[in-house]
Amino acid sequence: MRVKRRRRKRKLELLILSMTFLLLLSGFAFWQEVQSKENNATLHVSDAQNFPLNPVEEKLPDRTKEDNKEKTTPVSNINEKDNSETVKEKPQKKQEVKKNNSTEKNIEQKNVDQKQSNENNATNPNKVPTKKESINKAPQTNISKEDKVVYLTFDDGPEYFTIDILNLLDKYNAKATFFMLEPKMRQYPNVVREIVKRGHQVGMHSVTHDKNKFYASKESVVAEMMKGQQTLQNITGKKSSLMRVPYGSVPHMKPDYIEAVNNAGLKMWDWNIDSMDWKHTDGSFVNNVIHQINNFKKNDKKVILLHDRKTTLNYLENLLIYLSANGYKMEKLEVTHIPVQFGK
Ligand SMILES: [Zn+2]
Repeated sequence: MRVKRRRRKRKLELLILSMTFLLLLSGFAFWQEVQSKENNATLHVSDAQNFPLNPVEEKLPDRTKEDNKEKTTPVSNINEKDNSETVKEKPQKKQEVKKNNSTEKNIEQKNVDQKQSNENNATNPNKVPTKKESINKAPQTNISKEDKVVYLTFDDGPEYFTIDILNLLDKYNAKATFFMLEPKMRQYPNVVREIVKRGHQVGMHSVTHDKNKFYASKESVVAEMMKGQQTLQNITGKKSSLMRVPYGSVPHMKPDYIEAVNNAGLKMWDWNIDSMDWKHTDGSFVNNVIHQINNFKKNDKKVILLHDRKTTLNYLENLLIYLSANGYKMEKLEVTHIPVQFGK
């Protein structure tokens, strides 16, 4: 009987013990859960407060989503979205950083857009031009306009057919410069007058056009030019100081020769585009000139050498058509210009 009672008592004790243990266990688990929740909350706040510049890590998936949006959404929408997001525990600083990031991104995107739009005319594609720079660019476009000027020059005239050249030049609103031989001026004085009347430039190109006679001495050079100048003035009333020596200044115009013409008040012009029209009488000189214009590398006026010849007249219109169609202005040389010379 006693034994039975004792056994029952022990069973009861065991039951109570195990129930207490279970109770304790569940109590502990509950406490832990509560504790961990609290911990999480405090960690959140302190985390954000201590590292306000590094909130991106935990928001990584959201940011990428936003990044994609930023590429298409305008600024105001993004800001609206930022403001509409209700913030419970998230500290204000975190929001500000995000906002800053998105504006930064926006500027970047704008820069990219600007870069792309500037790519065509930008000198440095890595640099976004400022307002100041675009102002500085204005003269550059003027220079490129100046690049679109060519100076047609006709040597060895005038001739009986020079009027046809003048008519063609008029047709294409072109001005040119005529370096004329003194005997031919006397032969065709009316043509010389017509050249001046139509607004072209006139200059001298020697009397003899003979290498040996013309370059015999610096005095012979100056004398031939002065004779031409006088004849031109007699015919037109106009005194020109512009001149071109036969065959160009190299190699015959030595420094003392050049000094002599300068002292005589003459301005000696060579050329930098040689049509070779005297040789290419089939009209292929036109392509020759076009090729040289398109490959012109010098920072100088484009001075084209042509001749007052029938074979040049025959194909001249092709050149004028090309120049007009490609936006070139055809102008005459002026006394104020610094002459193009081989030696320089
Ligand atoms: Zn000549």
